[in-house]
Amino acid sequence: MNLVERVRQTALEQPERRAYHFLGSDTTYGEFEQTVSRFAYALQQLGVEKGDHVAFLLGNTPHFLISLYATMRIGATAIPVNPTYTQEEISYIIQNGDVKVVIALDGLLPLVEAGVNILPQVETYIICETTPNIGERMEALSSTAKERTFLFSEVLGKATAFADPVHVEEDDVAIILYTSGTTGYPKGAMLTHRNLYSNARDVGHYLQMSPDDRVIATLPVFHVFALTVVVNAPLLQGATVLLAPKFSPSEIYNLAGREQATVFAGVPTMFNFLYQFDGNTKNFAHLRLAVSGGAPLPVQVLLNFEEKFKVRVSEGYGLSEASPVTCFNPLDRERKAGSIGMSIPNVDNKIVDENGNEVPVGEVGELIVRGPNVMKGYYKMPEETYNAIRGEWLYTGDLAKKDEDEYFYIVDRKKDMIIVGGFNVYPREVEEVLFSHPNVLEAAVVGMPDSNLGEAVHAYVVLKDNHTSIEELQQYCSDRLVKYKVPTVIELLDELPKNSTGKILRRSLKEIEKAK
Ligand code: AMP
Repeated sequence: MNLVERVRQTALEQPERRAYHFLGSDTTYGEFEQTVSRFAYALQQLGVEKGDHVAFLLGNTPHFLISLYATMRIGATAIPVNPTYTQEEISYIIQNGDVKVVIALDGLLPLVEAGVNILPQVETYIICETTPNIGERMEALSSTAKERTFLFSEVLGKATAFADPVHVEEDDVAIILYTSGTTGYPKGAMLTHRNLYSNARDVGHYLQMSPDDRVIATLPVFHVFALTVVVNAPLLQGATVLLAPKFSPSEIYNLAGREQATVFAGVPTMFNFLYQFDGNTKNFAHLRLAVSGGAPLPVQVLLNFEEKFKVRVSEGYGLSEASPVTCFNPLDRERKAGSIGMSIPNVDNKIVDENGNEVPVGEVGELIVRGPNVMKGYYKMPEETYNAIRGEWLYTGDLAKKDEDEYFYIVDRKKDMIIVGGFNVYPREVEEVLFSHPNVLEAAVVGMPDSNLGEAVHAYVVLKDNHTSIEELQQYCSDRLVKYKVPTVIELLDELPKNSTGKILRRSLKEIEKAK
């Protein structure tokens, strides 16, 4: 069994059931299945074969769902990428991921033009129209770019046949997700059909999803949390996905009221924003469950939310490399505020010391996980894979402890990653940009607590001479990085704290900042 096959069965058995809702219109499982099959055929006509890589630079629109299921259906591999990334960030992933076809929002047409020169391996661009004058803008492309570029609606319109079934093995790679893992440059976590199917199924069961559920999908669908919890899990259970193009509290209130939403999933920042928003809480009268993940949910935010919306909040935990979920607070037992809950079915979580030995209850160690959800490895990076997965166990880089009831608690992050409003920022990426500035001698980037976004990016820089201002450095970063990665604070220092081997002590920087 895999995701595509399961959804196809629902379409055959209950074609009239509503698969998703988007901007006031509904699509049934029957319609979804037909569109997926036609788009899969269109991809084949464009030369996409089993094993090829197709990148998605898409937001929360039906284009994403159709592209994902069509790509998986023909045995190709999907690479979802944050469409708001800068050209440099996107190019890195497209090159490293050996992408042959790019499906992108129309706002990314400038990338197509540039891609013709810098990304020669991309043979085809499919542009998803979200604005009216897209035809004119396509016309303005150079002739070389035009030859490779097609409109999503035209591609689909011309596909009059359905794709022939392509056999996929459960160990074939369905998706590659770029993440930095515990350290270093972004790496492609390869998730197989089995990884994705098992996690969506187990999460769906654990959260008691049923065909009667209407699940708000406002988390960005290119992120693994959204992919499994609000897209694949509901679709496997025959539930309805309520696609919200972007997160805004007023729109979520409206959507929840209009569509009688039963499940909401978000990162902690979203919980806080919804709580702070002055709207009619009756709109959430049908909500039976709110799910938090992606970053630690402050206990007070959880309690406030439960009190205001009269709903249970279940915090869970996961990471890209585990497709992603490993723990959730159970619905049939106590939910413990501040805890990420218990192991979901089929997944083992264990806390170990430096030597890989399990530590006693209550003691802190590294969280490691094992199960059918653990990735196949990092794309083309055997050494990194070897470091991440040891004897079936995935080392998460998160420090955790367990209580006597088998509930887990994340205590800290061993890895340096910063989470800004649910988005990951890898200090190394920001540091590399700062280092590329001709007047920067040294740079270190750390995450500092932020009351709105959970964490904020702070940079500490040693300049070669004092002819560069903080504003210039900030602008330099803005030109090269997506907004949430740009340091909100840059501090100029004479030197950075280092240990005896010359390694920069990020922790000392945090301590100094906290002391201030
Ligand atoms: P990603 O690969 O983008 O899903 O990021 C995974 C990382 O997010 C984990 O390794 C954790 O550091 C962090 N994370 C996810 N969920 C939680 C949570 N509930 N509490 C604390 N950290 C979390």
